[in-house]
This record gives sequence, C-alpha cells and structure tokens, in this order.
Amino acid sequence: MQFDIKNVVRPHILNLAPYSSARDEYTGKEGIFLDANENPIGSATPENWNRYPDPYQWAIKEKLAPLKGCRPSQIFLGNGSDEPIDLVIRLTCEPKVDNIIILPPTYGMYEVSASVNNVQIQKIPLTVDYQLNVEAILEAINSKTKLIFICSPNNPTGNLIDREAILQIIENFQQGIVIIDEAYNDFSDEPSFIPSLDEYPNVMVLQTFSKAWGLASLRLGMAFAQEGLIQLLNKIKYPYNINGLTQKLLVENIDNVTFVEESVKTLNENRTQLEKELSELAIVEKIYPSDANFLLVKFNDAKAVFDYLIEHKTIVRDRSKVILCDNSLRISVGTKEENKVLMNYLHQYQS
Ligand SMILES: *Cc1c(COP(=O)(O)O)cnc(C)c1O
Repeated sequence: MQFDIKNVVRPHILNLAPYSSARDEYTGKEGIFLDANENPIGSATPENWNRYPDPYQWAIKEKLAPLKGCRPSQIFLGNGSDEPIDLVIRLTCEPKVDNIIILPPTYGMYEVSASVNNVQIQKIPLTVDYQLNVEAILEAINSKTKLIFICSPNNPTGNLIDREAILQIIENFQQGIVIIDEAYNDFSDEPSFIPSLDEYPNVMVLQTFSKAWGLASLRLGMAFAQEGLIQLLNKIKYPYNINGLTQKLLVENIDNVTFVEESVKTLNENRTQLEKELSELAIVEKIYPSDANFLLVKFNDAKAVFDYLIEHKTIVRDRSKVILCDNSLRISVGTKEENKVLMNYLHQYQS
C-alpha cells in the first residue's frame, strides 16, 4: 500500500468548505480596508494592533523555511505544538472508531488530545532502555489506526530514539501518519527529519519555539509535512490562530540564531556539569543519558526528595508514577547558579 492522504483524512473534512476570512479573500497590502469590521482609528494600546493578522503567517514561514531545509508551504504554525497535535487527531480520527498509537513513557499531550476527542489510544511501552519495540508497534496497527506518535529526544526520558527503528515504522505504516516530535532536537546532534519530508509523505515533524528559542510564553509551535497535509491543517484551524504581536516579534528576531546556538551550547555544558555532580550523590541511583535540556534521575526515594525540594522552593517534575520511570524526577537544566542551589539542597537533604 502506498500512502495517500485522502485515505487518512476523515471524509467529511475532505468535503468541507473552510471559513473564508476577509484576509483570505483580499490578500493585497495597500488600500482602504473596509472589509473586516476592524477599528480604523487605532488601538487601546500604545502600539496599533487594530488589523487582523496574516492567517498563514507567510512572513515567518519565508524566513523559517531556509533555516529548516524545507519550503514555506510545508510549514504549519500553531498555538504551541499542542495545536497541531490536536488538529492532526481531529483531522484523521473518527471518535470512538479510529485509534492512535503512543509509546509511553512519553509526552502527555498526545493522550490528552486523543481523549478529549474521544479517540482510542493504544499504548505500546518503550523497551527498558527507552527504545521502540518495533515488532509490538507494527503488530498493534489495525485497520483503524491513523497516527503513531514518536518523541525524539523523548520527554521525560531525554534520550534519542534510534533512527533506523523510526524508519522501520515509517516504511511499514503507509495507512497513516507518523508524527515525530522533535521539540528537543536543537539540543542534540541528530539530524531532523524535516529535510527528508519529500521522501516520506506520511511523516509530520513537530518542533517548537518554546525550548531552545526561549519563547515558551509566546506559544508558537511548528509542524512540517507534505503540502497536502499542511493545507488540510490550514483548512480546519482557527482563522487567525497566531496573533499579530507574536508574528511581528518572530519576523523581527528569527535571524537571532546566535541566541539559540549559544543557549544550546551553555545548557548542554550545564547539563554535563549537573550530571557529573548528581552522579556523586549517594541518593542518586541512575542518571539516564540525555540529548535534551533536562535529566531524568532515579533516586532511592524520589517522593521524599521531591517534597524536600518543594519545601525549599525548588521545583522539579515528579515522574515517579509514570510507567518505566519509578523513583525518577525530571530536572530541567537551569543556569549555573540555579543548578548550584539545587545541588546544595540535595547535599543538605542527603546529610
Ligand atoms: C515542550 C514540548 C513541546 C512543546 O510544546 P509547546 O506547546 O510548543 O510549548 C512539544 N513536545 C514535547 C515532547 C515537549 O516536551
């Protein structure tokens, strides 16, 4: 079977006429705009935001495409990665009928979005070394399986997923879409799947401005895929899903790759240092290898360590109830000063 987007998308969406906004119907920039019921006088804020923004954010995409090795038309921008995650589920999965495959322990939003949409979830746990159980995944695929979510580097474990294993899933799942969540790719040396999208029409890659770019508060996520899939996501999104302020800030600052490169370098150095210091603690049983800006750390008593840190206003993420993560805390890599404070409290707890 050869991948065909028309077989994956819910039939009623293929036939649906999308909302046509004023900015869809007239795309020129010059003129007297009396078509969108905006306030022509200005805004209640010092800067003017009275005009609706570009629904397709072309100015960002034109600048982003060469950075990512793709065409602007292969990019979808969303309100965080959460938006394309939700949209691709709604695009492809008939509630109560279709299913998705997720690979725990992994990012929580895949399950949340599927559940909100009443879409069934098949969970195929990673192996004990947090890699894909390819055989079990391929076996779980049935005629109603539409999506497989793979997170690499994986959250909360931090490791990269073996590329050959991902390729095996892509090649053997032509009936649906493989979503590769590369939120932490900037922190690793692993090449992205984005430049290979023409080769793999059944792949959608997720990246985000929330981590290496330091823009979590703006809520800007990216999805990359073949044009056909991007056009369908555009068809079902809210017309003006990325606000004008965010678009302006991004266009003006997207050339600042130096910030991204330098913060990645610094955070990776800090991670190495933190890893070394944590490994010298008797309460630490294991530090999992990480290609991301966090460490999954197994303690002898994670809950007690977590509570102690909270008491001292130092907040990490308790993952000890998560499958294959018993007694483990997920610690984001901080600044040198923040990491020092964390280490002081851990030494204090230990003694
Ligand atoms: C942080 C993170 C994201 C990014 O989420 P945004 O909604 O873009 O902030 C996506 N996937 C994973 C696995 C993450 O950890």
